[in-house]
Amino acid sequence: MSFSTFRGGIHPPESKSQTEKKEIEVLDPKGALIFPMIQHLGVPCSPVVKKGDRVLVGQKIADSEAFVSAPILSSVSGTVKEIGSRMTISGAMDTCVIVESDGKFEYAAEFLPHKDFKQLDRPEIIRIIREAGLVGMGGAAFPTHVKLSPPPDKRIRWIIVNGAECEPFLSCDNRLMVEHPEPIIGGLEICLHLFPEAEGIIAVEKNKPEAISRIQGELSEHSAGIRVMPHSVKYPQGAEKMLIYTVTGQEIPPGALPADVGCLVLNVSTVSHIWNAVTNGVPVLDRIISVAGDVVADPKNLAAPLGISVRELIEASGGFTEEPAKVLSGGPMMGMSMRSLDVPIVKGTSGILALSPRVARSFEESNCLRCGRCAETCPMRLQPTSLDKAARLRDYASFESMGGMNCIECGSCTYICPARRHLTQLCRDGKAGVMAERRKQKEKGENR
Ligand code: SF4
Ligand code: SF4
Repeated sequence: MSFSTFRGGIHPPESKSQTEKKEIEVLDPKGALIFPMIQHLGVPCSPVVKKGDRVLVGQKIADSEAFVSAPILSSVSGTVKEIGSRMTISGAMDTCVIVESDGKFEYAAEFLPHKDFKQLDRPEIIRIIREAGLVGMGGAAFPTHVKLSPPPDKRIRWIIVNGAECEPFLSCDNRLMVEHPEPIIGGLEICLHLFPEAEGIIAVEKNKPEAISRIQGELSEHSAGIRVMPHSVKYPQGAEKMLIYTVTGQEIPPGALPADVGCLVLNVSTVSHIWNAVTNGVPVLDRIISVAGDVVADPKNLAAPLGISVRELIEASGGFTEEPAKVLSGGPMMGMSMRSLDVPIVKGTSGILALSPRVARSFEESNCLRCGRCAETCPMRLQPTSLDKAARLRDYASFESMGGMNCIECGSCTYICPARRHLTQLCRDGKAGVMAERRKQKEKGENR
């Protein structure tokens, strides 16, 4: 059964033709690789190696004792050249471990394959997933071992594998489903081993018929308790709450989590990495990235080692045909504008998009026309125009009381607004303002 679709949303041009037929190419790194300590939601890692240490592929180079965190592993063998501050893909500075590759790709012996995962118990599987450095590869980068450890009173009824890939331009998930459906199904089987009462559903937008048929074909070979659900094409269908509604009809109340309505949602790349980590003993060393946009000479889907620079990805894609007006990390709807190409890719980097001034047009804002289109479009049923006003006035109490913290920053309101109001950016500012106020209040309370 599929529930029609969520309320609101938009239909931006898909713009996937540049990369949707491009087979995944493996990109080898050249020189130094840079590993930032913040690559996931939760507590940042700290280096566990020092300058001059020799490291191997898959060796842990940073970790944290916190539960909500995930270790960082070297994607190459070589020598730790430096531990220092570097700009990251978000434009922020972060402590990084810099490893000079020796080009030998010698593997650490820390990971063992477990061909029959059914022999492993839950704590062992969770341990392997954590030690493999697994986080949500769809971009959220939430540590996977935490997601797979909901409170014991939560009954998980559905494990949804997110193959929606609703962001325009990106097709890395699509290519993974087309070229490698087996580890996706295998990774889902491991998750179902952890939650035996659950049903496994691989949810894919209908605009990916090849991916749907490849997974369906693979499922017919084996895998009871797993099915593919093709669903309607609409942005932001891949957002967790929207996908849960479409697949199960469950609405997640504000402040609640997917597990509260019996769901876990994992990206296709994440479950594929779960399979590789558990059965093949291969931790998270690389990820597939779509390099696209109208000024990229030869757009590609690249399997790139973590820590490689964005510049190397662009060079491997033929460089620019003209100076881009904007380079984004991620897709055009939720991606972040980058300040430099000399920054490393991290676990959550799904796309690099370079756009000409003709595509990345910036518009002057004008006064709100009170047309109501932003509210009709908002999938979270918010009033973006009221949130915009509160954020501009720095009235964070009102912003919060209107549910502003539930904004998923999907960009739909900005896309639809005829007055070109910067609604999503103002929602981001409002959320940051609320968080800053909360920190201030906490500090006040602690100093009393
Ligand atoms: S207010 Fe937030 S959730 Fe609603 S459409 Fe705008 S960006 Fe998306
Ligand atoms: S869509 Fe734009 S113009 Fe229309 S009500 Fe919302 S903010 Fe105002």
